[in-house]
Amino acid sequence: MKSICLLGSTGSIGQSTLDVITDNSHLFEVSVLTAHKNVDLMIQQCLKFQPKVVAMADSGCAEKLQKHLMSKSLDIEVFAGKEGLIQAVQSVDYDYVMAAIVGAAGLLPTLSAIKSGRRVLLANKEALVMSGQLFMQAIAENNAELLPIDSEHNAIFQCMSENSINKSGCDSGIEKIILTGSGGPFLNKERNYLNNVTPEQACNHPNWSMGQKISVDSATMMNKGLEAIEANWLFSTPFEKIDVVIHPQSIIHSMVSYKDGSVLAQLGQPDMKTPIAHALAWPDRINSGVASLDFFNLSQLTFQPPDATFFPCLKLAYEAGKQGGTCPAILNAANEVAVEAFLEKQIKFTEIAETIEKVLHKVPSGKAESLEKIIEDDLAARQNANQILGLS
Ligand code: NAD
Ligand code: MG
Repeated sequence: MKSICLLGSTGSIGQSTLDVITDNSHLFEVSVLTAHKNVDLMIQQCLKFQPKVVAMADSGCAEKLQKHLMSKSLDIEVFAGKEGLIQAVQSVDYDYVMAAIVGAAGLLPTLSAIKSGRRVLLANKEALVMSGQLFMQAIAENNAELLPIDSEHNAIFQCMSENSINKSGCDSGIEKIILTGSGGPFLNKERNYLNNVTPEQACNHPNWSMGQKISVDSATMMNKGLEAIEANWLFSTPFEKIDVVIHPQSIIHSMVSYKDGSVLAQLGQPDMKTPIAHALAWPDRINSGVASLDFFNLSQLTFQPPDATFFPCLKLAYEAGKQGGTCPAILNAANEVAVEAFLEKQIKFTEIAETIEKVLHKVPSGKAESLEKIIEDDLAARQNANQILGLS
């Protein structure tokens, strides 16, 4: 029986993880749950999974949760606030941590879990984008096992030989990593169409059901840019060898092209329960609750190159990734501020890329030598983005 610490349990990945755990309750149990402010769902999760500790980043919500758990005589320790998340991660033993908090908020809890030297299932790509070098160093120094949850990276992992994380991908006959992306809800629209799109339209992804932030990132294709940076770190592959191919049906989740002409692909339904089950059980295979593909009822599988002018975020992310240092953290922070402002209907969709580009010009990046430096540049980028948008 493996015990799980689930960071971000109330989110889309968090809930899918609990579904897989429920279907495999003879293999997994829950030790830790954390969330931001969805108390009602956290109460339900506590009643069902009976973790040892929980944490809520919002202190008021933590208080409400504690009162409710006491009224039900449940012996679950509750931690509160940002610090509470770290305390929860450090307070009990568990075998695996699922890092499924969205955005920079997941960085410190995830790094804290790595220090415990356990298996780390990484959905929170922003944490790796921000702190790549330090993150991978922490994995190596603590002898932790890192398994990707992002469907593309999980697919690539499955298409590579065993234990390919943090090994030099290009030395093992790999010619290219091919990240597939659906192109999001605005693929093949006119450029002008983007001027008036709403958050509801941006979050209405054609194939995947996801949290709001990653849905907007998919619509701008910043998600694919963050994923290129993620692949660069996970598989030690240079950006020149990481291609993006638009594949609107989201059936091929990514591919690896080898020197001998072989291209290996991983296929499946667009359902995150597959990579979650894969990483939980690896190197075994378990039931994920996802049906296999029915080839005779599949639509065509089609491919097209991404349009750089329609998706400027993709280019910005590649440039930031190539520049390295704290540049990806600056890109990520500016994106988080702009996406939040778009979701709050304070700015237009097209202003997301414009803002990020301005912030990248304005905020100087440096060496990502310490966590303090990364957090300092993240903050500078947030302040700058807020200023540009007139929100500070
Ligand atoms: P979501 O918005 O549905 O859930 C986010 C979770 O993080 C929630 O539990 C929320 O309570 C918690 N959270 C948010 N802000 C927080 C804060 N300040 N402090 C502490 N906790 C906080 O997001 P999601 O779609 O589940 O995505 C989670 C991560 O997984 C993201 O990094 C995303 O890029 C990645 N990911 C998601 C998918 C997907 O299909 N949803 C696919 C690949 C990768
Ligand atoms: Mg992905």
